[in-house]
Amino acid sequence: MFLVGLLHLEHLIIKFMETERIYFDYNASSLIRKEAFNLLESINKSYGNPSSVHEEGRSMRDLIEISRTHIANSLNTNEKNVIFTSGGTEAIDIALNQNNGRIILNSTEHVAVFESAKKTGSTIEILEVDDNGIVNLDKLDSMLQKGPALVCVMFANNETGIVQPIKKISEIVRKYNSYLFCDAVQAYGKIKINFNELDIHFMALSAHKVGGFPGSGALIINESIKKIAPITLGGGQEFGLRGGTENLIGITAFGECAKLIDEICSENQKLKEYINILEKNIESFGGFIFGGNSQRLPNTSLFAFPEIKADTMLMKLDLAGYSVSSGSACSSGKVKKSHVLEAMNIDDKISSNAIRISLGWATKKSHITNLLNFFEDVFNKTVLE
Ligand code: PLP
Repeated sequence: MFLVGLLHLEHLIIKFMETERIYFDYNASSLIRKEAFNLLESINKSYGNPSSVHEEGRSMRDLIEISRTHIANSLNTNEKNVIFTSGGTEAIDIALNQNNGRIILNSTEHVAVFESAKKTGSTIEILEVDDNGIVNLDKLDSMLQKGPALVCVMFANNETGIVQPIKKISEIVRKYNSYLFCDAVQAYGKIKINFNELDIHFMALSAHKVGGFPGSGALIINESIKKIAPITLGGGQEFGLRGGTENLIGITAFGECAKLIDEICSENQKLKEYINILEKNIESFGGFIFGGNSQRLPNTSLFAFPEIKADTMLMKLDLAGYSVSSGSACSSGKVKKSHVLEAMNIDDKISSNAIRISLGWATKKSHITNLLNFFEDVFNKTVLE
């Protein structure tokens, strides 16, 4: 019996290793873009510390400043507003560290925002979303009537892809002399962002969501903010706001992706067509689309089939060669209850079945066709054209 079990396991492992992998988890981390890899080759003989005054150091500094300009241009803002960080999480941490009074937190924020907010010791008030996952603007207005606050609303949600009305939120926040922090980690590169026009105070970005390397990101700070308190002092790098020798490879690759932001955005917009085909079929197989009535990122679909738990479906898909995610997988890889779907009043029974497909620059139409054929076998139904 034990031997049969082992043989079965071996068969599954071999099948797993032989299967061609199709990656549908770009919201977790994008495949690295070839432009980022090419850049590695072009700078592979570069060395030195960007803070050194000698020639090598100066050429490192130039690479960093060029990247800063690319990122600033991609957001229509000034380069002196761009602070390089070790990623989205650190950018969030620095932005939230500024406030020790009152924080108003959108209920569907990323866990990093909740944790950074808690750490500040501020009073935290939750701003609810409606059943479509959109923040309640009247509620925000009435909360701010009671006094100013740092308001945290993400541009787009990592699980559902739901996009918030950031311009309207920014207008309300300005009316009450408050501050707006916007986590744009998922939105950047998927929808065009004009930082100056939106008049946001702080914005967090992450390189590995746009095809750069993990471990690099940026905090964008509005010119009206005169002074902010750094968390890491170190040698005073990044205008004294984030000490420590800069991550040259991460930053330059990030800059290279930022240079291509218009192209990356239009690539992502085209993926909407694939998401529409996918969702039409999921519904015809009896599935449910979360946030189906809301504006969403063009590359993201979160859905559930009534009878199949997310971890079971994830395993089936993984064995068949598809890398997908449950909307709410944590760093340990376990599927846990989604606070995002809970905030949208979704029943636990259906939210525990939620699977997220997120597409990116290397996704092909044939990948979607293959996935639909897989579902066709699972549900014994025919794919719609
Ligand atoms: N914010 C959102 C919405 C995210 O999706 C993520 C990463 O998944 C983060 C923040 C954290 O970014 P990073 O991985 O660069 O720390």
